[in-house]
Amino acid sequence: MSTHAISGQTRVVGIFGDPITHTRSPAMQNAAFRVRHLPYVYVPFLVRPADLSKAVHSIRALNLVGVNVTVPHKERIVRYLDALSAEANLCGAVNTVVNCDGTLFGDNTDGRGFLLSLQERCLSPRRREVVVIGAGGAARALLASLIRAGSARVTILNRTQAKAQVLARTYRSLGKTRIEALPLDTLRDPALLQNAALVVNCTPVGLHGEQFLPLAYAATPRGCLFYDLLYRPELTSFLRHARAAQRPILDGRRMLLHQGALAFSLWTRTPAPLDAMAQALKRTLRNQ
Ligand code: NDP
Repeated sequence: MSTHAISGQTRVVGIFGDPITHTRSPAMQNAAFRVRHLPYVYVPFLVRPADLSKAVHSIRALNLVGVNVTVPHKERIVRYLDALSAEANLCGAVNTVVNCDGTLFGDNTDGRGFLLSLQERCLSPRRREVVVIGAGGAARALLASLIRAGSARVTILNRTQAKAQVLARTYRSLGKTRIEALPLDTLRDPALLQNAALVVNCTPVGLHGEQFLPLAYAATPRGCLFYDLLYRPELTSFLRHARAAQRPILDGRRMLLHQGALAFSLWTRTPAPLDAMAQALKRTLRNQ
């Protein structure tokens, strides 16, 4: 492992999660600090749920620049922070904390990262219909960004339907987007998918090579993008089936890249070196 020289000037950024060994963010962020010649280092911190409040205090105590936050802390960390961005407030979850002289500011760059990855594919969700599978933290961040982007309609399908219903109720009042919650087995129904511009998997199904849920892939319009938030060296079964139905596909790497680039800019107030970060991400995923 090579990082730039650590000195008395080095500033520390980190990531809180449990587990944490799988994280790809240190490779991406340290590459960015090197390219920008910034005296920063990014390190993983294994933070057990019971220790989250102490870990948050340590951001101030150790004068960390800030942290990323991953599973399982994204929602619970909100209560320990001093201020939230509109986006973090809207989705009730934080993935980036910035330490502003002891005041801890929480933001969520997942939704913006997601929209930037769509923009790269020239896909605007404005006035379009979107199907979101899952109702966890990532689905919430996406929902908030889709409402902000002016989607016409979002249908949420989740294994625990009650959670999808709560989400739909909470977000319905926030914009003009029509939001509906349906049972997961509706994915087999061609009527659900016939006007979809985008179908997003926000569940971990496929992370370990398992089969995705039965879904009427061919019922979607030809240009409907199938987007899996997971990133693995091989295609997930969700994306394999979509590709077999000759639909465009996208995995979670570009969203991971963009959410990280946005966090980098929040900590350093410097534009992120996107290409260097993308290369570092590619290398670290290849070595998975
Ligand atoms: P959460 O744990 O908050 O939510 C997981 C969701 O998946 C829940 O709705 C859960 O349903 C559903 N789910 C879990 N297992 C199954 C199953 N076997 N069958 C059907 N549904 C299931 O996770 P997140 O929302 O934070 O993350 C979801 C995925 O997105 C993760 O794999 C994560 O790695 C990825 N992600 C990628 C990002 C990127 O930048 N590319 C950013 C953020 C997340 P239920 O409510 O019934 O439990």
